[in-house]
Amino acid sequence: MNASSPEPARSQLRNCPRCGDTGRPVGERTLRAILKPEAAAALRPDDWRFCRTPTCDVLYFAPGGAVFEKREAVTRIGIKETEDPIPLCYCFGFSRADVRSEVANAGDSTVPARIAAEVKAHRCACPIKNPSGACCLGEVNKAVQEAKQAVPRAAGEAAAAPVTGGARR
Ligand SMILES: [Zn+2]
Repeated sequence: MNASSPEPARSQLRNCPRCGDTGRPVGERTLRAILKPEAAAALRPDDWRFCRTPTCDVLYFAPGGAVFEKREAVTRIGIKETEDPIPLCYCFGFSRADVRSEVANAGDSTVPARIAAEVKAHRCACPIKNPSGACCLGEVNKAVQEAKQAVPRAAGEAAAAPVTGGARR
């Protein structure tokens, strides 16, 4: 079987043509907001999906065969980056480094609660700010758990000094 099959079978069209991820349905307005103007100009109505595979350069794909890569986005794609700055929350500017430094200093992160408060106050704009079109809290909570596993015994040892957010960078 050829690794780079140019004509995917109809049954495979719901999966990322490069990595096979089933993707997450995402609205066209998210693509319009996230893609650079020159990429957005080529945008056609389709059943767009967001590829969630960290190592895959495909950002969006559609059953029609169209693909947009992460380099065509106006923002860094947090789940597809391994080096800082790694965005976690696109509405309020929190990064993975913010979570890591809070957990290292205080044993826990205030970021999920701060985002939840903003969401409750209807100040988030995930459909046009988050490349996945979804709320970031799932990814943020995951990042907190990962940070806690990375520094299991930091709590209590260091003075509690939460960082003051990453929006300033
Ligand atoms: Zn992919």
